[in-house]
Parts: sequence; C-alpha cells; structure tokens
Amino acid sequence: MNGRSPFAMRIGHGLTARSELGWLVSNHLIRRAAWDALQDSRARHGHITLITGDAVARVQVDADAARLTLASGATHSARLLVAADSRFSPTRRAVGIGATQHDFGRTMLVCQVAHAQPHEHVAWEWFGHGQTLALLPMNDEPASGAHRASVVLTLPHQRIEPLLALDDQAFGAELARRFEHRLGAMRLISTRHTYPLVGVLPHRLVAERFACLGDAAVGMHPVTAHGFNFGLQSVTSLARELRAAHAAGSDIGAPGPLARYQRAHRLATRPLYEATRLVVRLYTDDARPARLVRDAVLHVADRLTPFKRLIAHSLAGQ
Ligand SMILES: Cc1cc2nc3c(=O)[nH]c(=O)nc-3n(C[C@H](O)[C@H](O)[C@H](O)COP(=O)(O)OP(=O)(O)OC[C@H]3O[C@@H](n4cnc5c(N)ncnc54)[C@H](O)[C@@H]3O)c2cc1C
Repeated sequence: MNGRSPFAMRIGHGLTARSELGWLVSNHLIRRAAWDALQDSRARHGHITLITGDAVARVQVDADAARLTLASGATHSARLLVAADSRFSPTRRAVGIGATQHDFGRTMLVCQVAHAQPHEHVAWEWFGHGQTLALLPMNDEPASGAHRASVVLTLPHQRIEPLLALDDQAFGAELARRFEHRLGAMRLISTRHTYPLVGVLPHRLVAERFACLGDAAVGMHPVTAHGFNFGLQSVTSLARELRAAHAAGSDIGAPGPLARYQRAHRLATRPLYEATRLVVRLYTDDARPARLVRDAVLHVADRLTPFKRLIAHSLAGQ
C-alpha cells in the first residue's frame, strides 16, 4: 500500500503452485527448533561442544589454523572458522573483510498487537507518508479468539522514542491511528523492541580459513522478510561445499570450497539486496513527484501478472 490510498497491490499464493505464500514463524519457535536440531546432531555423532555465556574476544587466522580467544581467556583452534555474529560481525571485521553499509537513518519498532477486525492472514507492507508499517498476521489467540498480528513500525529514531514512553493503552490507540483504524482498535500484547535499520553487504564472504554466513554474509532490509531464509540458505550452501571437500579427503578450510560458497551465495542474495534498496528508496521518498511515481508504479505493477508471479515465486522461495 502507498500513502493514504486504499489501493493495494495484492500478491497471493494463487500466483504460485502452492497453497500458501509463506509461513510466519515466531522467533522463539525457530530458536527451539535450532536447539532440538543441535541436540539431535549431538546424540547422533557427538562432536559438538556448545559454549554459552562467553564471547569471541580475539581472532587469529593464518594458513595453518584459525585460532579464537574467548572473553574468559579460553582458546580454541580449527581448520575453519565460520562466523554468524550478525550483520555488524566483529569477527568478519577482525579477519579484514570490510562491508558496504546502507544506513536508512530509521529505527524499527517491533511488537505484537490484538486488533478488532480479522487480518484474513494477509501480510501488509504499507509505505505511508513519513512512516512505514508492516503487519504480519499471527494465528488467533486460542483461548479468547482475539485477532493478533506482529507489527513493525519504521520511523526516524527521534519519533520512535516518544512511542516507547507511552503507556500500553495510549500506545495501542496510537498504533490504531497510524493504521487508520483499518483493523479497528488495537491493543499492545507484548513488549516493544527497537532495531536500527541498516543494510550491510560485505565485500567478501570468505578469507583464509574463514567464512561468514547468516546476516554476517548479507544484512537485508526486512521489507521482503528474507533475512532468516537467506541465513538458512547460506548454511545449506556452505555445508554442501564442506561436505564435498570432506568426502574427497581435502582440507575444508582450503580456498576452493570457500570460493564456490561465496559465488553461490552472492548470486542468490545480491540481486534481491540491491532491488530491495531501490524499492525502499522510492517508497520512502515523500516528495510529491516520488509520491506520484509510487502510486503509478503500484497500479501498473498490479496489472502485470508475470511481474507479480515473479515476486510471489521469490517470496515463496521457488
Ligand atoms: C525488525 C526485524 C524484522 C525482521 N523480520 C524478518 C522476517 O520477517 N523474516 C526473516 O526471514 N527475517 C527477518 N529479519 C531478519 C532476521 O532477524 C535475521 O536475518 C536473523 O536474525 C539473522 O540471524 P543470524 O544468526 O545470522 O544473526 P543474529 O540473529 O543477529 O545473531 C547473531 C548472534 O551472534 C552473537 N554475537 C555477536 N558478537 C559475538 C561475539 N563477539 N561472540 C559471541 N557471540 C556474538 C549475538 O549475541 C547474536 O546472538 C528481521 C530483522 C529485523 C531487525
């Protein structure tokens, strides 16, 4: 959706061969699944040591080995160091890989709300004037049947701060107003969290005996909700190369498999990273000519079924 216009470009699962466009899964469930997968792997082959409550303090990588020193002083060495320590990855930086950062100058406020009207399981991306709103449908609350959604409100940080100071009731009313009451009254049902909106594209994904993945390999703008999916894709892609090297009896930290991983993951992520940046730039420009172009693009794109099919397939990971 664009500005105050009630018009919306709709992208439905009917454009794909699937019965849904995607699934929204709460992060705590993803973390639990990751934990269960770790326990399962450990039970099957045992060679996993989990260290919690400590941080990587120092990294030293050379042709022989990657060596880590933790904040506690413990040291570890390996043939390959893989970093998944966020888009601002201090480990990536420590091995000398720079990154292009695009700071959108905005802060995202994330929370959950209950709302009066049903969302019909439609996810919204609403480029309003002066604000961006995303609404991610959740299942109704089982006991009360209340309609629920996760909301992401993007604003300059100085306009987010007063919202954090509002009491729950006033905050719900403010959100309903920002959503132009399209889903009726809103009530806050979670804590509020904020994140800086910064896209990050590292110059390289690998170095000597080093690879980065997850957000450390590409820090997406969340508009297409691809970040975590790309993270999983990076794990699959790197694991494929390492497994092949291991099966061939070669060094898993050798440049060959790492270069192949870098090529594959760059190809899979960079086009969407750049396209997203362009779309967001246009749809957050509130100058009058941009507003007119925004509206025109949305109306034209809505009539271009092949274009919408392309987006639907991309969202559905096909
Ligand atoms: C507001 C918002 C909405 C989003 N919505 C979606 C969505 O709808 N769908 C989607 O797919 N993705 C979404 N994403 C993106 C998604 O959250 C990320 O892609 C994902 O969390 C990246 O996982 P990660 O493990 O690579 O990094 P992170 O989740 O950033 O985790 C990095 C970890 O590294 C640890 N760490 C950092 N430094 C050190 C150190 N020195 N030593 C030890 N540990 C360290 C941190 O403590 C942290 O636990 C969203 C992101 C934001 C901010």
